[in-house]
Amino acid sequence: MGLTIGVDIGGTKIAAGVVDEEGQILSMFKVPTPPTAEGIVDAIATAVSGASEGHRIEAVGIGAAGYVDDKRATVLFAPNINWRHEPLKDKVEQRVGLPVVVENDANAAAWGEYRFGAGQGHDDVICITLGTGLGGGIIIGNKLRRGRFGVAAEFGHIRVVPDGLLCGCGSQGCWEQYASGRALVRYAKQRANATPSSATILLSLGDGTVDGIEGKHISAAARQGDAVAIDSFRELARWAGAGLADLASLFDPSAFIVGGGVSDEGELVLDPIRKSFRRWLIGGEWRPHAQVLAAQLGGKAGLVGAADLARQG
Ligand SMILES: [Zn+2]
Repeated sequence: MGLTIGVDIGGTKIAAGVVDEEGQILSMFKVPTPPTAEGIVDAIATAVSGASEGHRIEAVGIGAAGYVDDKRATVLFAPNINWRHEPLKDKVEQRVGLPVVVENDANAAAWGEYRFGAGQGHDDVICITLGTGLGGGIIIGNKLRRGRFGVAAEFGHIRVVPDGLLCGCGSQGCWEQYASGRALVRYAKQRANATPSSATILLSLGDGTVDGIEGKHISAAARQGDAVAIDSFRELARWAGAGLADLASLFDPSAFIVGGGVSDEGELVLDPIRKSFRRWLIGGEWRPHAQVLAAQLGGKAGLVGAADLARQG
């Protein structure tokens, strides 16, 4: 099979990209994300037809944030879009006249990294995506593992603190409340509140108040040596690494790949994640250790992965 299209449905933009067998994006077409479920189907069709211009396309893969059924056809539930048992595959196939595969966006990103990014050469890879929340993907024995009902690898909602912080999912103490971009901002605000004298750079980047602290300020301040910003990354890394040690007990992969916006900080966050991972790994001294690697494809992983999954059919 030759060229396929991967579609990434973001909060503000829907991107369609033509992807070749080597994972290279040959052309891209973006449209704004409409507010309604029906509008999104129209927008996907527009983006696919825009990207297809001048190419012979054989299939389309769509990465969607939500629970996708085992047939990779229906979005059972999406937290940010009003999709409840949305037959996305059928609707988009009718519009674009090509075979369509729908995949959970974190699964698609994991597959992209496994095939063309940091996971190349590994047979058993676990990916976590540290974005606003925490997403995951499981590749064991060179296969994407989706579970019986298609909804495996929701690592972000493993309960790591009994009766801990309330999560958007309705549960308490979920991992993503402690290891995610949103958690990072909370750590920075708490610390800046307690010791503003250690957060002078961080506070100078926002509007000067603790409430004005945003994720981008924490990254910039950490690079300039701000103590609170660096400590906030360490706290996030402590939780992320401890969780990876638990996932090693479950899956025993040869590599963990850490992606998402937070991982753009590279060693600033990866080094403390590795330290925490080693600290909490059971039998750590006496067993082989999985590598903890930074994702390589950035924000393109989901699009490239969805296109490749469509190619595999
Ligand atoms: Zn949760």
